[in-house]
Amino acid sequence: MPPAAVDRAVLPEPGFLIGAEKVTEHDGEVYEHRYAATGEVTHAVPLAGEQEVDAAVAAARAALPAWKRMPGNERRRLMLRFAAAVRDNERLRHVITVENAFPFSFTPYFANWVAELFEYNGGWADKIGGGEVVPTFPGPAFDYTLDEPYGVVAVIVPWNGPFVSFGQWLGPALAAGNTVVIKPPEMAPYTCLALAELALEVGFPPGVINVVPGGAVAGTALTSHRDVNKICFTGSGGTASRIISASAPNLTPTAFELGGKSARIVFADADLQQAARRTLLGTGQACIAGSRVLVEAPVYDQLVEMSAAMAKQVPMGDPFDPGTFVGPVISQGHADRILGFVDRAKQAGTGRLVTGGERLGGDLAEGYFLAPTIFADVDNSAEIAREEVFGPVTAFMRFETEEEAVAIANDSEYGLAAHVETNDLRRAHRVSRDLEAGTVWVNGFVDLPVGAPFGGNKRSGYGRQGGIWGIREFLQTKNVWMPL
Ligand code: NAD
Repeated sequence: MPPAAVDRAVLPEPGFLIGAEKVTEHDGEVYEHRYAATGEVTHAVPLAGEQEVDAAVAAARAALPAWKRMPGNERRRLMLRFAAAVRDNERLRHVITVENAFPFSFTPYFANWVAELFEYNGGWADKIGGGEVVPTFPGPAFDYTLDEPYGVVAVIVPWNGPFVSFGQWLGPALAAGNTVVIKPPEMAPYTCLALAELALEVGFPPGVINVVPGGAVAGTALTSHRDVNKICFTGSGGTASRIISASAPNLTPTAFELGGKSARIVFADADLQQAARRTLLGTGQACIAGSRVLVEAPVYDQLVEMSAAMAKQVPMGDPFDPGTFVGPVISQGHADRILGFVDRAKQAGTGRLVTGGERLGGDLAEGYFLAPTIFADVDNSAEIAREEVFGPVTAFMRFETEEEAVAIANDSEYGLAAHVETNDLRRAHRVSRDLEAGTVWVNGFVDLPVGAPFGGNKRSGYGRQGGIWGIREFLQTKNVWMPL
């Protein structure tokens, strides 16, 4: 059976949330958002231009004085109320799946992660702001610091997880007393609207969270805006460079969560069944995907074989089917881009295509379903080992020694994450120390406590989300001095 049609009733009305007002009248550009599992249009989504961005920044500016002066315990209570409304929210789960066709059975994890991020950061709201007393010399004086919010924060998020990025950036930004304008992309405009509307419903003051779905025009208007005090961006490195140029005249500070080409290093003593399973999670549309699998020689052939067998059997199909493990990729354009990588690899003789490499037909022909794809014997200099494919394409490579594995893993422009599979405790710590990555997972995948820092090295970005590190991104320090 083909995937079920979309239930549009669950979606928020497309438009812009500016202050307390939902603006739906629009004579500018629109984007036909399609449900990736069937290709059907969900709505013609209005895209923000300069006018909407200006209005949203003005609303955030107007809301700032009261929000940053609000006692921390009141901000905390609001954030906890919001978290309670998000946790286990059935409608939100539907919006997540319609937005980017993420399997419905995985959505509780994401909805509840957003809730968790607001609970965690809400807990900080009444514990920050005060600073330290600084020793003075030679004369008697009183010197102390204050930690203050930046002001209006622009947040720009990608289509592969706008809901998670909402929680990761807005949790700490709001707890620290900043107000926000968030720009979700045209391909995934719904969850940020649904979340922000929920925030208004639970009592957030209008203007604290404003939402302007749009593309590059809105992004440029926002990042070049003189009244924006900080820019937080999750997306690709190319866009991050454009943001630096746009924000340069105003010297606006930035924090960047960018792409990755993460290595999964599997040693011969690892639990191979688990390691093979973890290579297949999702459609590869994840910044942290272990898209280069480095396998120790004695178990290389076995792991390639096991992974290929699993890839062929992985349940794909209707994202709302509880058994579905892998859904479609986001769009026709993205499917074409991924298949372009596959074709070039085949033409160049980059490794051996073991399984996949094509679009699925039959009942799934109208959606953008790509078969999980494995190339074996790939050289680390090949395009599919260096570029972020951002799709279900994995490159397997063989290594002989621990040093060689670390050298291959680090031979990348990116440094977002790395994965190590081994049961040798000492080696696990040694390799984790030597890997050039912001996060290392040992024998696990995507387990990231909200209190832990997350972010990239090298061209995977700078700045950290999560824990106290995430809060610090949104506070600037003032020093106060007076003679006694
Ligand atoms: P993208 O860079 O194309 O777009 C990201 C956002 O930037 C979108 O909202 C887009 O509309 C906006 N944008 C486009 N042009 C702009 C401009 N000139 N100025 C300002 N904003 C502009 O990325 P994408 O394809 O949406 O997302 C995939 C990328 O995001 C991958 O590289 C992936 O690894 C990365 N990502 C990183 C993380 C992380 O936490 N490190 C998480 C998720 C995704």
